[in-house]
Amino acid sequence: MSTEPLARVGAHVPASRAFAYAEQIQAETIQIFVSNPRGWAAPVVDRAIDEKFKEQALTNDLVTWVHAPYLINFGSPTTQTYEKSLASIAYALERAESIGARGVVVHTGSAVDSGYVESAWTQIHEGLLPILDSLPDSAPYLLLEPTAGQGQSLCKRLDDLAYYFAALESHPKVGICLDTCHAFAAGHDLTAPGGVKETLDLLVDVVGKDRLRLIHANDSKDVCGALKDRHANLGAGEIGIEPFADLFRHAAVAGVPLILETPGSETEHGSEVALLKELRGRGR
Ligand SMILES: [Zn+2]
Repeated sequence: MSTEPLARVGAHVPASRAFAYAEQIQAETIQIFVSNPRGWAAPVVDRAIDEKFKEQALTNDLVTWVHAPYLINFGSPTTQTYEKSLASIAYALERAESIGARGVVVHTGSAVDSGYVESAWTQIHEGLLPILDSLPDSAPYLLLEPTAGQGQSLCKRLDDLAYYFAALESHPKVGICLDTCHAFAAGHDLTAPGGVKETLDLLVDVVGKDRLRLIHANDSKDVCGALKDRHANLGAGEIGIEPFADLFRHAAVAGVPLILETPGSETEHGSEVALLKELRGRGR
């Protein structure tokens, strides 16, 4: 039997019924939103409710992750969007700590305008680094999730994470959330022979060891390189099942949880969690 730490599997769940949902799908890890994912509003923090969540997660042996709002774009040329993005991520990090979450996932964003890329890196350095510096050692990680490479994405491919790490001076609180659908859409062919290994090796090469802290396990409705962010259920898309078995075999994935962000709810996610557990068992 392998002595490697188990890569937990689970799903993004509705915060209002997170624990019932997690139990129904037999999740070992969950991801939630702590505010409207399509808005800027930051709900008032109720420490008692957050503390209760934290205790329940511990009792149920669930590792929690927070997904920050989709509107966040640290590379935006619009001052208001940039400032709201910084406030929103600071809030998400605070709430994540409050509910005992291990990290906050945020999309790597876009410069929007091809002429704004340099300025985007500068403002990421100037705005985000002080937030990271202010975090205590016990704080959750900020997990950068590369997008599908569309438009003026700051991370068109995983190689571009090097710029992010340079802008954030490889801050120890920065980690990576690798979304399989996004990576595939961006042109990393996970279905080619050795494709998963090549992609993960590249990631480790670019950002270093132990930076990969979470995986979003999603199939893709579109072909490799399509630059489209359309998630499919595992096995129902262009990636297929085998690459997910390969993921569990890579050393960089040891102990790294997998979160489903696929269509459907308890029924679909229950089957997919079971499938991931089966694939995980194969290599052990
Ligand atoms: Zn994702």
